[in-house]
Amino acid sequence: MNANIEKFILSFDEDSRLDFTKLVEFIKFNNIPIKQIGIKVAPAVTSAEVIYLDFDGVLDTEKRFGSQFIYFLILHEIGHFLRLRKYGENLIKDMYAIPEYPDFLDKVMEEENFADKFGCIMFYKLNGVRYMGQLTNRDVYAYQMSSVYNAVHHGKLNYEAMLEQITYEI
Ligand SMILES: [Zn+2]
Repeated sequence: MNANIEKFILSFDEDSRLDFTKLVEFIKFNNIPIKQIGIKVAPAVTSAEVIYLDFDGVLDTEKRFGSQFIYFLILHEIGHFLRLRKYGENLIKDMYAIPEYPDFLDKVMEEENFADKFGCIMFYKLNGVRYMGQLTNRDVYAYQMSSVYNAVHHGKLNYEAMLEQITYEI
């Protein structure tokens, strides 16, 4: 892991109940690539290759929800990443191929629930403290993603191009 990213993650280690060093060790041990980037829609986003973190977005999120939430957010993204690394990007392509939007949302929420569960379990393993997190609200997601779903589903936009549209190099 890039020294800047390690320093950034460790900078949240002010809550004595949380062990951010263990989180960094977990990321290194599992060879999880993290890249700093600007993201227009969220503090973090995950592809089959890398987890993108928007430092400003994460700092802003920390101000509103605290460092426990940041810890959980990073674990949630790691959950997505491990599934994508295991099953490949076809996992995403198959999702966008689902013909009806509500069925697509069901599948998205399955992945989100998996990532939440992974985040909660790992949070407890690494800190010995329980955290009940839920990152994605189905209704909000449904509202935000309908045009993206339509564009990707109808082949006007591929997932990689979509990721490029919502991110910018900093
Ligand atoms: Zn998620």
